[in-house]
Amino acid sequence: MTGTKGQEMDEAVALKAYCKRRLKHIEQQKLLLECDEKHQKRKRTSIKRVESISDQNVPVQFICTLKLKTFREEMKKGAEQDFHEPFRCRACLAKQADLAMNYFIKKKMNQLQAQLLDERIQSHLYNKDTVCLLGEILKDLPKPSDDPGEIWQRLLSTERWTLHETK
Ligand SMILES: [Zn+2]
Repeated sequence: MTGTKGQEMDEAVALKAYCKRRLKHIEQQKLLLECDEKHQKRKRTSIKRVESISDQNVPVQFICTLKLKTFREEMKKGAEQDFHEPFRCRACLAKQADLAMNYFIKKKMNQLQAQLLDERIQSHLYNKDTVCLLGEILKDLPKPSDDPGEIWQRLLSTERWTLHETK
């Protein structure tokens, strides 16, 4: 790596130039702000007049060198790092177990809820049937206010009807 030393020199020169420009910029801003304290009215315009840091021309070569350096560092870090294996990672396994447990509980709860609903429907149907039957029986029963002759007639007619049906 013979280019490293020359590259470092370039970096140092560029960095020095950049720092100089930055310092000048900060000093300029400071002066303007001090001036503004005395003349409040000019505050907004004077701050706007100062060019932003991003506008200052940093040498492209310097930026490229830094980018390359960062990229190389990242590659190095990536190569040094162990690959993440979820089947051996304790945190991942714990999370997986947690998820499986949640899934199981949810499934079981759904099953139980469905069962409960089914039981409720069955019991509702059963109760309704009993009530209906009771209602029908009560409807057909003679009342104490009914005429005894009419009761006899009704009884005989239903008996005749049943006899006729069984024939
Ligand atoms: Zn993991």
